[in-house]
Amino acid sequence: VDHELDYPKSPSAMDWSVHYPKYFTSPNAEQQTAATALDTAVTGEGQAKDTKKVEWADVGCGFGGLLMALAPMFPDTLMLGMEIRVSVTKYVNDRIAATRQAQSLLPAESTDRVPGEYQNVSVIRANSQKYMPNFFERGQLSKMFFLFPDPHFKNRKQKARIITPGLLAEYAYVLRPGGILYTVTDVKDLHEWMASHLNAHPLFDPIPTEDLKDDPILEAARTATEEGKKVERNKGDKWVACFRRRDDPVD
Ligand code: SAM
Repeated sequence: VDHELDYPKSPSAMDWSVHYPKYFTSPNAEQQTAATALDTAVTGEGQAKDTKKVEWADVGCGFGGLLMALAPMFPDTLMLGMEIRVSVTKYVNDRIAATRQAQSLLPAESTDRVPGEYQNVSVIRANSQKYMPNFFERGQLSKMFFLFPDPHFKNRKQKARIITPGLLAEYAYVLRPGGILYTVTDVKDLHEWMASHLNAHPLFDPIPTEDLKDDPILEAARTATEEGKKVERNKGDKWVACFRRRDDPVD
Protein backbone atom coordinates (compact mmCIF):
# COMPACT_ATOMS: atom_id res chain seq x y z
CA VAL A 1 0.00 0.00 0.00
CA ASP A 2 1.14 3.47 -0.90
CA HIS A 3 1.47 5.01 2.52
CA GLU A 4 4.25 2.55 3.21
CA LEU A 5 6.15 3.60 0.12
CA ASP A 6 8.95 6.07 0.52
CA TYR A 7 9.35 8.46 -2.32
CA PRO A 8 11.03 11.85 -2.71
CA LYS A 9 9.03 15.08 -2.99
CA SER A 10 10.97 15.86 -6.16
CA PRO A 11 13.99 14.42 -8.00
CA SER A 12 16.31 16.94 -6.34
CA ALA A 13 15.23 15.63 -2.92
CA MET A 14 16.50 12.16 -3.79
CA ASP A 15 19.64 11.04 -1.96
CA TRP A 16 21.42 8.97 -4.59
CA SER A 17 24.55 8.56 -2.44
CA VAL A 18 22.81 5.70 -0.65
CA HIS A 19 22.48 3.90 -3.96
CA TYR A 20 25.67 4.85 -5.72
CA PRO A 21 28.17 5.86 -3.02
CA LYS A 22 30.99 5.89 -5.53
CA TYR A 23 29.25 8.53 -7.61
CA PHE A 24 27.44 10.78 -5.12
CA THR A 25 28.43 12.57 -1.94
CA SER A 26 26.17 12.10 1.04
CA PRO A 27 24.05 15.13 2.02
CA ASN A 28 25.51 14.66 5.48
CA ALA A 29 28.98 15.32 4.08
CA GLU A 30 29.34 18.60 6.07
CA GLN A 31 29.76 16.45 9.12
CA GLN A 32 32.86 14.89 7.62
CA THR A 33 36.28 16.32 8.23
CA ALA A 34 37.80 18.41 5.43
CA ALA A 35 40.22 15.59 4.67
CA THR A 36 37.57 12.89 4.26
CA ALA A 37 35.36 15.27 2.29
CA LEU A 38 38.19 15.82 -0.16
CA ASP A 39 38.89 12.14 -0.26
CA THR A 40 35.27 11.31 -1.07
CA ALA A 41 34.65 14.16 -3.51
CA VAL A 42 36.06 12.19 -6.42
CA THR A 43 35.36 8.69 -7.65
CA GLY A 44 38.05 6.04 -7.90
CA GLU A 45 38.82 7.21 -11.43
CA GLY A 46 39.38 10.77 -10.24
CA GLN A 47 36.06 11.92 -11.69
CA ALA A 48 34.12 14.58 -9.78
CA LYS A 49 31.19 13.18 -7.80
CA ASP A 50 27.59 14.34 -8.16
CA THR A 51 27.93 14.79 -11.91
CA LYS A 52 26.14 11.67 -13.11
CA LYS A 53 22.44 10.86 -13.15
CA VAL A 54 20.52 7.64 -13.30
CA GLU A 55 19.84 7.04 -16.99
CA TRP A 56 18.30 3.59 -17.28
CA ALA A 57 15.30 2.28 -15.37
CA ASP A 58 14.19 -1.35 -15.23
CA VAL A 59 10.54 -1.05 -14.28
CA GLY A 60 9.32 -4.03 -12.25
CA CYS A 61 12.87 -5.40 -12.22
CA GLY A 62 11.98 -8.54 -10.25
CA PHE A 63 15.12 -10.34 -9.11
CA GLY A 64 17.49 -8.04 -11.00
CA GLY A 65 18.90 -10.33 -13.71
CA LEU A 66 18.88 -7.63 -16.40
CA LEU A 67 20.67 -5.09 -14.23
CA MET A 68 23.35 -7.56 -13.18
CA ALA A 69 23.96 -8.43 -16.84
CA LEU A 70 24.09 -4.82 -18.06
CA ALA A 71 26.07 -3.25 -15.19
CA PRO A 72 29.50 -4.57 -16.25
CA MET A 73 28.69 -4.10 -19.96
CA PHE A 74 28.00 -0.37 -19.41
CA PRO A 75 30.08 0.51 -16.35
CA ASP A 76 29.74 4.28 -16.87
CA THR A 77 25.94 4.26 -16.98
CA LEU A 78 23.93 4.48 -13.77
CA MET A 79 21.02 2.05 -13.85
CA LEU A 80 18.18 1.52 -11.39
CA GLY A 81 15.68 -1.27 -10.83
CA MET A 82 12.22 -0.29 -9.57
CA GLU A 83 10.29 -2.98 -7.79
CA ILE A 84 7.11 -2.83 -5.77
CA ARG A 85 7.54 -5.98 -3.67
CA VAL A 86 9.44 -5.40 -0.43
CA SER A 87 11.05 -8.84 -0.22
CA VAL A 88 12.10 -8.82 -3.87
CA THR A 89 13.59 -5.34 -3.56
CA LYS A 90 15.53 -6.48 -0.52
CA TYR A 91 16.78 -9.52 -2.39
CA VAL A 92 18.11 -7.38 -5.24
CA ASN A 93 19.62 -4.90 -2.81
CA ASP A 94 21.44 -7.70 -0.97
CA ARG A 95 22.49 -9.24 -4.27
CA ILE A 96 24.10 -5.99 -5.41
CA ALA A 97 25.76 -5.37 -2.04
CA ALA A 98 27.19 -8.90 -1.94
CA THR A 99 28.45 -8.65 -5.51
CA ARG A 100 30.10 -5.28 -4.86
CA GLN A 101 31.70 -6.65 -1.73
CA ALA A 102 32.98 -9.74 -3.54
CA GLN A 103 34.44 -7.54 -6.28
CA SER A 104 36.20 -5.31 -3.77
CA LEU A 105 37.84 -8.32 -2.15
CA LEU A 106 39.30 -9.66 -5.39
CA PRO A 107 42.98 -9.07 -5.99
CA ALA A 108 43.62 -6.23 -8.47
CA GLU A 109 44.92 -8.65 -11.10
CA SER A 110 41.98 -11.05 -10.83
CA THR A 111 40.20 -11.72 -14.09
CA ASP A 112 36.93 -12.00 -12.12
CA ARG A 113 37.00 -8.26 -11.60
CA VAL A 114 34.49 -6.61 -13.89
CA PRO A 115 34.42 -3.04 -15.18
CA GLY A 116 32.61 -0.76 -12.76
CA GLU A 117 32.42 -3.47 -10.09
CA TYR A 118 28.62 -3.05 -9.94
CA GLN A 119 28.90 0.44 -8.41
CA ASN A 120 26.65 1.69 -11.22
CA VAL A 121 23.63 -0.45 -10.37
CA SER A 122 20.99 -0.17 -7.66
CA VAL A 123 17.38 -0.89 -6.84
CA ILE A 124 14.58 1.03 -5.22
CA ARG A 125 11.23 0.02 -3.88
CA ALA A 126 8.70 2.00 -5.85
CA ASN A 127 5.33 1.86 -7.47
CA SER A 128 6.18 2.87 -11.02
CA GLN A 129 2.55 3.55 -11.70
CA LYS A 130 2.61 6.52 -9.40
CA TYR A 131 5.88 8.16 -8.62
CA MET A 132 8.07 8.20 -11.73
CA PRO A 133 8.32 12.03 -11.93
CA ASN A 134 9.19 12.15 -8.22
CA PHE A 135 12.35 10.16 -8.91
CA PHE A 136 13.42 11.44 -12.32
CA GLU A 137 13.56 14.84 -13.95
CA ARG A 138 12.00 15.51 -17.28
CA GLY A 139 14.11 13.80 -19.95
CA GLN A 140 16.50 12.23 -17.44
CA LEU A 141 16.23 8.65 -18.67
CA SER A 142 17.60 7.29 -21.93
CA LYS A 143 16.26 3.76 -21.53
CA MET A 144 13.27 2.20 -19.81
CA PHE A 145 12.67 -1.53 -19.64
CA PHE A 146 9.31 -3.26 -19.16
CA LEU A 147 10.25 -6.91 -19.15
CA PHE A 148 7.72 -9.65 -18.64
CA PRO A 149 5.36 -7.33 -16.75
CA ASP A 150 1.82 -8.15 -15.71
CA PRO A 151 1.66 -11.92 -16.08
CA HIS A 152 -1.98 -11.83 -15.01
CA PHE A 153 -2.78 -8.95 -17.29
CA LYS A 154 -6.09 -10.36 -18.52
CA ASN A 155 -7.56 -10.50 -15.04
CA ARG A 156 -6.50 -7.01 -14.15
CA LYS A 157 -8.51 -3.89 -14.41
CA GLN A 158 -7.07 -1.42 -16.88
CA LYS A 159 -5.91 0.96 -14.17
CA ALA A 160 -3.79 -1.78 -12.59
CA ARG A 161 -1.78 -2.25 -15.78
CA ILE A 162 1.75 -0.97 -16.16
CA ILE A 163 1.27 0.40 -19.69
CA THR A 164 -1.81 2.62 -20.00
CA PRO A 165 -2.35 5.82 -21.98
CA GLY A 166 -2.08 7.84 -18.76
CA LEU A 167 1.13 6.16 -17.64
CA LEU A 168 2.68 6.52 -21.10
CA ALA A 169 2.48 10.29 -20.63
CA GLU A 170 4.58 9.91 -17.48
CA TYR A 171 7.06 7.58 -19.12
CA ALA A 172 7.39 10.01 -22.05
CA TYR A 173 8.03 12.80 -19.55
CA VAL A 174 10.98 11.07 -17.84
CA LEU A 175 12.37 9.58 -21.08
CA ARG A 176 14.46 11.95 -23.19
CA PRO A 177 13.84 12.48 -26.91
CA GLY A 178 15.72 9.69 -28.69
CA GLY A 179 15.49 7.46 -25.61
CA ILE A 180 14.25 3.88 -25.98
CA LEU A 181 11.41 2.07 -24.22
CA TYR A 182 11.78 -1.72 -24.41
CA THR A 183 8.93 -4.15 -23.86
CA VAL A 184 9.27 -7.95 -23.79
CA THR A 185 6.56 -10.40 -22.78
CA ASP A 186 5.51 -14.00 -23.26
CA VAL A 187 1.84 -13.02 -23.14
CA LYS A 188 0.67 -12.29 -26.67
CA ASP A 189 -2.42 -10.35 -25.60
CA LEU A 190 -0.29 -8.16 -23.37
CA HIS A 191 2.16 -7.56 -26.21
CA GLU A 192 -0.69 -6.44 -28.42
CA TRP A 193 -2.09 -4.22 -25.71
CA MET A 194 1.27 -2.54 -24.97
CA ALA A 195 2.21 -2.14 -28.65
CA SER A 196 -1.19 -0.71 -29.60
CA HIS A 197 -1.03 1.94 -26.89
CA LEU A 198 2.56 2.84 -27.65
CA ASN A 199 1.83 2.98 -31.38
CA ALA A 200 -1.10 5.28 -30.73
CA HIS A 201 0.87 7.62 -28.49
CA PRO A 202 2.07 10.86 -30.16
CA LEU A 203 5.46 10.78 -28.39
CA PHE A 204 6.55 7.25 -29.33
CA ASP A 205 7.72 5.78 -32.65
CA PRO A 206 8.02 2.03 -33.13
CA ILE A 207 11.57 0.82 -33.85
CA PRO A 208 11.65 -1.87 -36.56
CA THR A 209 12.87 -5.14 -35.04
CA GLU A 210 15.64 -5.48 -37.64
CA ASP A 211 17.14 -2.16 -36.47
CA LEU A 212 17.79 -3.73 -33.06
CA LYS A 213 18.71 -7.24 -34.08
CA ASP A 214 22.38 -6.83 -33.10
CA ASP A 215 21.65 -4.71 -30.05
CA PRO A 216 23.27 -6.41 -27.03
CA ILE A 217 20.89 -4.50 -24.75
CA LEU A 218 17.82 -5.97 -26.39
CA GLU A 219 19.47 -9.39 -26.27
CA ALA A 220 19.98 -8.97 -22.51
CA ALA A 221 16.41 -7.68 -22.12
CA ARG A 222 15.09 -10.82 -23.83
CA THR A 223 17.30 -13.35 -22.07
CA ALA A 224 18.93 -12.07 -18.86
CA THR A 225 15.95 -11.64 -16.52
CA GLU A 226 14.73 -14.43 -14.28
CA GLU A 227 11.35 -14.42 -15.98
CA GLY A 228 12.95 -14.45 -19.43
CA LYS A 229 15.01 -17.49 -18.42
CA LYS A 230 11.91 -19.26 -17.14
CA VAL A 231 10.10 -18.64 -20.42
CA GLU A 232 13.14 -20.03 -22.22
CA ARG A 233 13.18 -23.19 -20.09
CA ASN A 234 9.49 -23.68 -20.86
CA LYS A 235 10.17 -23.01 -24.56
CA GLY A 236 7.63 -20.20 -24.55
CA ASP A 237 7.36 -17.42 -27.12
CA LYS A 238 8.73 -13.95 -26.50
CA TRP A 239 7.15 -10.85 -27.98
CA VAL A 240 9.34 -7.79 -28.35
CA ALA A 241 8.30 -4.20 -29.06
CA CYS A 242 10.64 -1.22 -28.77
CA PHE A 243 9.83 2.45 -29.17
CA ARG A 244 11.86 5.62 -29.55
CA ARG A 245 10.81 8.73 -27.68
CA ARG A 246 10.06 11.41 -30.27
CA ASP A 247 11.24 14.99 -30.04
CA ASP A 248 8.84 17.26 -28.24
CA PRO A 249 6.53 18.99 -30.67
CA VAL A 250 7.53 22.61 -31.34
CA ASP A 251 4.80 25.02 -30.42
N1 SAM B 1 11.21 -7.91 -15.10
C1 SAM B 1 11.46 -9.05 -14.25
C2 SAM B 1 11.83 -10.27 -15.06
O1 SAM B 1 11.71 -10.21 -16.30
O2 SAM B 1 12.27 -11.27 -14.46
C3 SAM B 1 10.27 -9.36 -13.34
C4 SAM B 1 9.01 -9.81 -14.05
S1 SAM B 1 7.68 -10.10 -12.88
C5 SAM B 1 6.58 -11.10 -13.76
C6 SAM B 1 6.90 -8.51 -12.76
C7 SAM B 1 7.49 -7.67 -11.63
O3 SAM B 1 6.94 -6.36 -11.65
C8 SAM B 1 7.21 -8.25 -10.28
O4 SAM B 1 8.41 -8.40 -9.58
C9 SAM B 1 6.28 -7.23 -9.63
O5 SAM B 1 6.43 -7.16 -8.23
C10 SAM B 1 6.71 -5.95 -10.32
N2 SAM B 1 5.71 -4.89 -10.35
C11 SAM B 1 4.39 -5.04 -10.61
N3 SAM B 1 3.75 -3.85 -10.57
C12 SAM B 1 4.69 -2.92 -10.26
C13 SAM B 1 4.66 -1.51 -10.06
N4 SAM B 1 3.53 -0.82 -10.15
N5 SAM B 1 5.81 -0.87 -9.76
C14 SAM B 1 6.96 -1.56 -9.64
N6 SAM B 1 7.05 -2.89 -9.83
C15 SAM B 1 5.94 -3.57 -10.13
